[in-house]
Amino acid sequence: MTGLYTNTALILVMLSGSVTSAFAQVPPAPSAQQAKIAASADRQSGHFDWVTLGTMGGPMPSAQRAEPANLLMRHGEAHLVDAGDGAATAMIRAGSNYRDLRSIWISHIHFDHIGGLYGVLGLRLQTRTTTPLTIYGPHGTRAIIDGLISAMRPSAQSGFGVPGEVPIDPATGIIVREVNDGDQISLGDIKVKVAENTHYSFPAGSEESRLFKSFAFRFDMADRSIAYTGDTGPSDKVTAIAAGADLLVSEMIDVDATMTALRRRSVEMSAQDLANTETHLKAHHITTADIGMIARKAAVKAVVVTHIAGGGATTEPEAAKRYAEEIKAHYSGPVKIADDGQTF
Ligand SMILES: [Zn+2]
Ligand SMILES: [Zn+2]
Repeated sequence: MTGLYTNTALILVMLSGSVTSAFAQVPPAPSAQQAKIAASADRQSGHFDWVTLGTMGGPMPSAQRAEPANLLMRHGEAHLVDAGDGAATAMIRAGSNYRDLRSIWISHIHFDHIGGLYGVLGLRLQTRTTTPLTIYGPHGTRAIIDGLISAMRPSAQSGFGVPGEVPIDPATGIIVREVNDGDQISLGDIKVKVAENTHYSFPAGSEESRLFKSFAFRFDMADRSIAYTGDTGPSDKVTAIAAGADLLVSEMIDVDATMTALRRRSVEMSAQDLANTETHLKAHHITTADIGMIARKAAVKAVVVTHIAGGGATTEPEAAKRYAEEIKAHYSGPVKIADDGQTF
């Protein structure tokens, strides 16, 4: 059965180039069904796909884009990279089985990146899934998961209301591992590297700077490497961790659009407050020009933009094209402004 699928995939690849990638533009485009078969064969062959489950930069919910979440998946195995609200539903939409979830990687503990954790853990509880699930993240992750597990206990005790039902402990199978800058972790046949980025800028030496970190991750797999910026400002460490990667998955902010929206929404903000906010946005996030420069310096092979903050990509049809062109002014490789549910 596997051989049949693999052969079908090979034929499809020969006919149409890389059929699973959202970069594929070689005509004739495969039918949705052909692409599905090829994607399924790819996943069985050990190749990991990266799926952008939610592409909105939080915290404001959007009708067009879900909160930040990504899935690294192949047949029988899945890893969530950030888990914004709706991550469990988006995983299923991406064709993954929640029982295949092996790990969750939290880049930092802003709510847009963790709002979906309770849904994922609750789904495991209600389906009595007890296979090990390791949650990696910065300091604070353990307290958050402990709190969620406590919050699950009343539901666990009440169960489905079936007489004689044996409740399960909601902590079953959940492992938390807090990570640090420079850590290298083996995840089956994936090697993960952790780098602290510049999303936070607490004063050097302060208690906050010691405690609170925001991370970029790099996933090295047998056939490809993917660097994920997390939320970050311009950062040499992010550039270094992305060096030579096949894919850079980057956050992005449209500062002008964000400031315009803020001025409209927050009429009580003083000019000074607005100026401070703009400085903060530019220091703690990256613009299209920043992305282009990181991609060029790191010599990555392709760029996918997600976590789109403040931008018009959700409402202006031309915005995604404009963002890609702004990045391409600094970087000559392929650039894709991702939508929810796209596979790379
Ligand atoms: Zn964010
Ligand atoms: Zn953030």
